[in-house]
Amino acid sequence: MRILVVEDEHKIANSVKKGLELENFAVDTVYDGPAGYDLAATEDYDALILDLMLPGIDGLAITRKLRQKNIHTPILILTAKGRVDDKVTGLNTGADDYLSKPFSFNELLARLRALLRRPKNSTGRILQVGDLILDTVTYEVRRNRQILKLSGREFALLEYLMRHPDKVITKEQIISHVWNYDADILTNTVEVFVGFLRKKIDRISSGPKLIKTVRGFGYKISATGE
Ligand code: CA
Repeated sequence: MRILVVEDEHKIANSVKKGLELENFAVDTVYDGPAGYDLAATEDYDALILDLMLPGIDGLAITRKLRQKNIHTPILILTAKGRVDDKVTGLNTGADDYLSKPFSFNELLARLRALLRRPKNSTGRILQVGDLILDTVTYEVRRNRQILKLSGREFALLEYLMRHPDKVITKEQIISHVWNYDADILTNTVEVFVGFLRKKIDRISSGPKLIKTVRGFGYKISATGE
């Protein structure tokens, strides 16, 4: 696993690097924002560790720029600030986790490993299946560069499916994750909403049909296969 550490406090950067290398990670270190952004945008890392306050471009701006470029490498933000607001901003910007200084190396390692264990599509702001992209913060859904207009319920259903790509999801699972407890929903209703989604997602594209019916079980969203 290859990690980029962007941290202007050399002492912290170097001790993180040393510690991670002892755990068999490959680690690159840079000490300012622009160098960090350039490397993160051009090299293939498994995760980024970004300090929040950096010379040149700060960690949040780096995160935002990378996500805008559709680079979804997991990001752990380091910061001296422990304020809830900063954490919310960081996560909304597209960071995956957050660690306040001072931190213990073991906590950093545990969080990094948790990030690396996550299936690529299950967390984070942007979900992608094939050429279908869903932004969980702006609620924008695009396929093949076209913006799709979805109702709130269609969006929730699509988000749920896209968080479990290539997995069969039952209608009962959909009901319990997309509708609230009070809603009295029948499996027919799920079929109707899946039909709405298919019209919007699969009809506008000459690409593969993404929402598949698995007879007798439910549905699956996948860019490959039947
Ligand atoms: Ca700093």
